[in-house]
Amino acid sequence: MTMSALKIHPSVDGGVKPGKAGFAGGTLTCKCKDNPVTVKLEGDVAFNHVCGCTKCWKPEGSLFSMVAVIPRDKLKVTANAQKLKIVDESAAIQRHACTVCGTHMYGRIENKNHPFYGFDFVHVELSSDEGWAAPEFAAFVSSIIESGAKPENMGAVRARLTELGLTPYDCLSPALMDLISAHTAKAKGVVAA
Ligand SMILES: [Zn+2]
Ligand SMILES: [Zn+2]
Repeated sequence: MTMSALKIHPSVDGGVKPGKAGFAGGTLTCKCKDNPVTVKLEGDVAFNHVCGCTKCWKPEGSLFSMVAVIPRDKLKVTANAQKLKIVDESAAIQRHACTVCGTHMYGRIENKNHPFYGFDFVHVELSSDEGWAAPEFAAFVSSIIESGAKPENMGAVRARLTELGLTPYDCLSPALMDLISAHTAKAKGVVAA
């Protein structure tokens, strides 16, 4: 298998495009031809990355999803909200998907004690606006095996991610893992809140 034959994600397979400083945001649109759901993001996203977990929505044939966060008060559903339904009410991240085309429009955390409470998870590939913060790393890489990727190809997958500048991690990036641990330490009273 040649490295470029690996379909990581359509947004990065041709090389990672840099974001624009001061990007003002844009609109996400679901895949429906009629009456699409639209979601307005009032600002750029942060911590954009490709994710190998089995829960994130990904395009057909891709090994990874591409997902980022934005403060929940910067996200507004602007059309056809009635088509949205939560995929799994019991999941920590409640993914609001279009019931017609299946696209996940945003994931929201309702548990105020969750380390990432206050941030919504979004897929900026659903926007035709250009300039979104570029993906920076690859999370939950080993988890693609749970979606059917062959374990013997993981070396090639990790090599391709590294070639694209998306450092592969089998959990989240060190910066995000540190945020989670700092949140836990404050919750336990180990450090001052
Ligand atoms: Zn749709
Ligand atoms: Zn994921």
